[in-house]
Amino acid sequence: MDQRKGTIDILGIPVDNVTMGDALSAFDGFLNGKSMAWIATPNAEIVSQASGDSSLAQLLMSADLVIPDGVGLLHASRMLGRPLRERVAGIDFAHCALKRCAANGVSVYFLGGRPGISEQAAANKMRDIPGLRIAGTHHGYFEQSDTASIVEAINESGAGFLCVALGFPKQERFLLENKNALHMKAGIGIGGSFDVWAGALKRAPKIFRSFGLEWLYRLGQEPSRIKRIATLPLFLVRVAAQKVSGA
Ligand code: UDP
Repeated sequence: MDQRKGTIDILGIPVDNVTMGDALSAFDGFLNGKSMAWIATPNAEIVSQASGDSSLAQLLMSADLVIPDGVGLLHASRMLGRPLRERVAGIDFAHCALKRCAANGVSVYFLGGRPGISEQAAANKMRDIPGLRIAGTHHGYFEQSDTASIVEAINESGAGFLCVALGFPKQERFLLENKNALHMKAGIGIGGSFDVWAGALKRAPKIFRSFGLEWLYRLGQEPSRIKRIATLPLFLVRVAAQKVSGA
C-alpha cells in the first residue's frame, strides 16, 4: 500500500504514522482495490492489552491500516523519540470515510451496538451526510452461529464499506475472520462510535479533547471503563522500559 508512510512500534504493535489526510488517501485506495482491506483504530488501552497477548497483537498486525486513535499513543510515541504526526480519532476518520463513500456512490453497512442503536446512528448519518446510502444495519449482540447469515445479509445489501462496532477485539476478529467471505472494499472497527452517532453517548467536548482528557469524560459517562483506564499508567511505564531497552 503506497500511502503507508512507515509505522511506529509501540510495545511491539506497529501503528501507522499517518495524518487524517494520509489515512483518507489510503481509504480511497481501498475503495478502488480488488480485495477487502480493513482498518483498526486502537488507542493506548488496546495497544496495552494487545502487547501482552500475542493473538491480539497478531490481530492488529493483520489490519491493512492501523490508525492512532488516542492521545495516549501520541504521548508514547514522543516518549520513544519517534513521534506520531497526529492523532487520528477513529470516529472522525469514519465520519470522513462515510463522506467519501457518499461522494463515490459506495453504500455502507452498520454492524454493532445494542438493538436500535445502529439504525438510529444510520438515520442520523444519512441526515448529516448528503447522498450517503446505508444499505443495512444489524445489532451487535448475536451468537457465533449467526455469523454466516449476517455475512450473507451484508453481502446481499450491496454495501462496499462495513463499519463494525462490537468493541475490541470482537470487531477486529469479525473483520479478519470474514474478510474473504465479505464482498466489501473496506471495513473498519469503530468501538463505541454508533452510540455517539445515535445520540446515546456524548462525545467529549472540545476542551476535554484539546487537553487529551477524552478518556476522563468517557469515564464519567461509563464508570465501568475504570478497569481499562487503570492500565494506562502501566502502559506508560512499559513504554519507558521500551525506550530504555532501545527496542
Ligand atoms: N458491543 C456489541 N456487541 C458486543 C459487545 C459490545 O455490539 O458483543 C458494542 C457496544 O454496544 C458498544 C461497542 O460495542 O457500542 C463497544 O464500544 P467500546 O467503546 O467499548 O469499544 P472499544 O473501546 O472496546 O473498541
